[in-house]
Amino acid sequence: MNAHYRQTISDKLDTLKQQGNYRYFQDVNKSAKHFPRFYFDDETGKKKSAVNWCSNDYLCMSIHEDVISKLSFTAHHSGVGSSGTRNISGTTGYHKQLEESVANLHGKEAAIIFNSAFLANLSTLATLGRAFSDAVFISDERNHASIIEGIRSSGCKKIVFKHNDVQHLEEVLSALPAEQSKIIVFESVYSISGNVAPVQEITALAKKYNALTYIDEVHAVGLYGATGAGIAGQQGLQNEVDIINGTFAKAFGTLGGYITTDAMMADYLRSFASGFIFTTSLPPAICSATIKSIELVKQNNEWREQFHGAVKKLRALLADKQIPFHTNASHVTAVHIGDNISCKAIADRLLNEFGIYLQPINPPTVKEGEACLRITVTAKHTESDMQQMVNALSIVMHETV
Ligand code: PLP
Repeated sequence: MNAHYRQTISDKLDTLKQQGNYRYFQDVNKSAKHFPRFYFDDETGKKKSAVNWCSNDYLCMSIHEDVISKLSFTAHHSGVGSSGTRNISGTTGYHKQLEESVANLHGKEAAIIFNSAFLANLSTLATLGRAFSDAVFISDERNHASIIEGIRSSGCKKIVFKHNDVQHLEEVLSALPAEQSKIIVFESVYSISGNVAPVQEITALAKKYNALTYIDEVHAVGLYGATGAGIAGQQGLQNEVDIINGTFAKAFGTLGGYITTDAMMADYLRSFASGFIFTTSLPPAICSATIKSIELVKQNNEWREQFHGAVKKLRALLADKQIPFHTNASHVTAVHIGDNISCKAIADRLLNEFGIYLQPINPPTVKEGEACLRITVTAKHTESDMQQMVNALSIVMHETV
């Protein structure tokens, strides 16, 4: 590489490191048998294990025997990759069944699946914007990077409204011409703060101002509502939201993302979204394992109850130790640290001295000065795991912050 290119790239990396925002990728050699425990080599090459406190495998579906069996059976039956885009030999019965299963979960007419929810957001929003030349996206200020990228790719105008602030949203809506196309984009459970959106108020405003609504339910699907349809489903609002986005990669424990909507909109997106059309489709085995996972998650509401019970327990233990955490109506428990360097220092000590893995969350995932530790409990964390984590966190936080 020419010196000019080397220097520019090297300067970018140096700046990132100086800001404390360099991303470290911890090896997490997951064990299906011992989850949430995993294995890694420390800096000296020594074999170690730790407990994972930042996995999104909330219901532990990635290690559920029936899901693993489906994956393995279908891979033996159909091979590993689909080896084709959806319209050039990459559609199987499993892909179609999975789309039906998703639409059914959300009470919608149709669904289309993507290789990730990131891609679903990016591609759907970009394609949606292109349908309406006058469209303006009205986007919550805390929306995920995939939403921001999707809106940017649409080339449409964007107005950001204050996080979860329906009054500000109404000010924005009311200032726009009545005939202008408006698309409100928000999340139901925000990934880092865990704040829950006022879905009912937002959909009511959308109706009043004739706007389309797009909700990202990535951190809610599987976990909220009697069948795990997410926050809109839990509140009986799935028909009030035009397009719902979700993932298979968190509570369902597999891989891929989706949008679900009415039949005509799904047909439009299937026909125009390049991130759907021009990429090899998900492996059939992943689709089949996901169908099984959704079926189990839908049927077993007690798993959700136990999961939310564990979140309560964890928060009680944190409160006992006077560790402040961001309160919200969801399962995401974020402990505010503030500066990036301290956040990384705390996380390093937790891992190396206590066998506790909490990935520091630094900018640009959060705003500058809002570095935090995002704690996620899963169905397999025991009360004793919780106690150990909270004790270690208390010691390290007192010594570091
Ligand atoms: N939307 C939100 C709010 C997320 O937090 C994430 C990932 O963490 C995504 C979308 C992307 O999901 P996926 O991992 O399926 O690409």
